[in-house]
Amino acid sequence: MSKVLITIFGATGDLAKRKLYPSLYRLYKSGVLEEDFAVIGTARRPWTKEMYEDVVHESISSLIENEEDAKTFASHFYYQAHDVNDSEHYETLRELSNELGEKYDTDHNKVFFLAMAPEFFGTIASHLKSEHITDGKGYERLIIEKPFGTSLATAEKLNDDLSKAFSEDQIYRIDHYLGKEMIQNIFAIRFTNFVFEKIWNRDFIDNIQITFAESIGVEDRGGYYDHSGALKDMVQNHILQVLSLLAMDKPKTYHSKDILAEKIKALQSIKIPTTEEVKEDFVRGQYVENDFNGQHFVSYRDESQVDPESTTETFASGAFFVNNGRFNDVPFFFRTGKRMTEKGTRINIIFKKEDSIFGPDQKLQQNVLTIYIQPTEGFSFLMNGKEVGKDFNIGEIKLDFRHDAAILGNSPEAYEKLIYDVLKGDGSNFTHWDELKASWTLIDKIVDVWSKNEVPLYDYKAGTMGPKASFDLLEKYDTEWNWTPDEWYKERNL
Ligand code: NAD
Repeated sequence: MSKVLITIFGATGDLAKRKLYPSLYRLYKSGVLEEDFAVIGTARRPWTKEMYEDVVHESISSLIENEEDAKTFASHFYYQAHDVNDSEHYETLRELSNELGEKYDTDHNKVFFLAMAPEFFGTIASHLKSEHITDGKGYERLIIEKPFGTSLATAEKLNDDLSKAFSEDQIYRIDHYLGKEMIQNIFAIRFTNFVFEKIWNRDFIDNIQITFAESIGVEDRGGYYDHSGALKDMVQNHILQVLSLLAMDKPKTYHSKDILAEKIKALQSIKIPTTEEVKEDFVRGQYVENDFNGQHFVSYRDESQVDPESTTETFASGAFFVNNGRFNDVPFFFRTGKRMTEKGTRINIIFKKEDSIFGPDQKLQQNVLTIYIQPTEGFSFLMNGKEVGKDFNIGEIKLDFRHDAAILGNSPEAYEKLIYDVLKGDGSNFTHWDELKASWTLIDKIVDVWSKNEVPLYDYKAGTMGPKASFDLLEKYDTEWNWTPDEWYKERNL
């Protein structure tokens, strides 16, 4: 499997250094990549091979156990200064590509990782074809990063550009959440546990809550974020992807073709809200200054590179409905935002209430299955039980499981898993064009209503779980956010 030439566009960038080189090194250490692989890094800077090897070495420094091994790994990296807009540069790239292909005996297999701004994707893809860097002799796979468009129209344009050079099954659109351990675990939870599989539907599930909370603000990404906002940055991709895994029907097999078919169906079954429904069921917010945890946080509008009159939402919340039979009328609530109380990504499956034989004095909890995605990873199940004592009193019991930090320390990072999937040719954990099309159609509708400024942009104080309107939304559906700060890991100093 390891025979491959990987070309990284944007090799001097943040993503390459923080994620790609460490992931490739872990794949090397675990034997997925052996001696018959090479990496060409390209970017505008005039680096030499030695400088590039040093950068690669530096970026994997915390993972190195054996210096010799790390040096050998870095020796597989070659640098080529390259302006992606300059056709002549691709000729040099082709020559280097052919030379390394022979030297490392890579069987013409090629992976192209575009770790660059999406505006360059079309240019790069078309040049790879026109300059014959792709030759159709081995496998040829293109990995691209978000954002994939900023609307359905721009996503379509980008897709048209890419599809002139690569077919859908050669394109791997990364949504790094799909590489996360507990997101992949949704398949295991749903389809290996008979008890859940049988009740994963509208007869037993009252509502589903997806929270992607960030405690950080926009940091140094204000310029980018101010043109994007929570809806496009988080909901269009990560939240809708997670929703599709929760809402989809059981795939025939655990193979990418069957999995994608069901995910696509789920996304296409999400009801496009009417203008009135957008006004009623979706909430947008923007954080304002506050003192929290002994720190002062400025308002979003005072962050660097942000328009002081910006109406970009840093918080989005709402209710989606999936009309696929399995889940008709079951709300899928979501919320995501910056500068929230704490960092936490989790999913709560709230099961229906049951009539009680125990009388009004005994308060019964609804069963809740919680999937913890980050910062801790695991699941818990909330149930009722008898409290210890001679009287019969019902109390809440939480079965709680988290992965051992030591095991997690050795577990693959999202990017490592995703690159591994690309090398295997497994597209299950990547976003298909049909999924993007369905998700942009939904998001465009919300953006359209929000941009007319007919719905409030609520303030929320930095360090809170978003505006009150997001809590009111759930109250309207006779439920509430099932969020408790995650005491479990705090108690254990994790
Ligand atoms: P970056 O700005 O750090 O790096 C951009 C790279 O592109 C640099 O190597 C730069 O030299 C190169 N480049 C720019 N113009 C060029 C040109 N004309 N010719 C050749 N090379 C050129 O960006 P990044 O943070 O590494 O992000 C890269 C992509 O990944 C973006 O699409 C971003 O949205 C996406 N992304 C990044 C992260 C992250 O953690 N950094 C996370 C998710 C998605």
